[in-house]
Amino acid sequence: MSTQTAHFEQPARRLPPETHLSEAGTGERARRARTEPMTIRPLRDGRVIVETDGGTYVVDADHDQCTCPDHAIRGTRCKHLRRVAIEAAAGRIPPAGMRQHVCGICGAHTVAAVDHATTLCEHHAFEPGELVVDRETGSLLIVVDQTAVRADDRRTDDGRLIADVETNRNYGDHEPVIDAVYASRLGRAKRYGFPASRLRHTDRDPARGQQLLASHQPDQSAPATG
Ligand SMILES: [Zn+2]
Ligand SMILES: [Zn+2]
Repeated sequence: MSTQTAHFEQPARRLPPETHLSEAGTGERARRARTEPMTIRPLRDGRVIVETDGGTYVVDADHDQCTCPDHAIRGTRCKHLRRVAIEAAAGRIPPAGMRQHVCGICGAHTVAAVDHATTLCEHHAFEPGELVVDRETGSLLIVVDQTAVRADDRRTDDGRLIADVETNRNYGDHEPVIDAVYASRLGRAKRYGFPASRLRHTDRDPARGQQLLASHQPDQSAPATG
């Protein structure tokens, strides 16, 4: 996985005086970028909201853009752009091009590329080929795909939302759907979708999972869920 678990504190309104002066440059705008009270709020798409006493602006550090008049009209590298660079350099917000993702199972914050589809942290993510157990039936399955689609946004073959299926009631509607095939019915290899937390990891290594699969005795209990 290309994710990394991290948690960003809400940045302080005022920076400690020794913080990354080089990120702000020198001169009056640099001084204001370092010293003026600003509240910094990273958005899901990688942009950053900057609240100041003088107004609230949106900084797109990827494209060196800010919505404030100083930048939008005069084209200067404004104090908001500079402050966002300071916060990113200090590790208090995700760097440009990255954003904070929230795990659909545990709520942990994960930093990954803005367009990275996963909504699960490193601990809860599933790898294709991984052997898992259905908590409801004890059946053994092989993960085919960790989708980016929520359980309340994907339908089963008979038209029900996966989140509305009786046996899925105990799992989060917002969780991403994991596509898996029953180990006992590999010949037919029909995919079923499960809310992520319904599946239990058995081994983190898909290659080892495949070995276990080879020695697995087929079982007959395999109720369809998706
Ligand atoms: Zn600005
Ligand atoms: Zn998690």
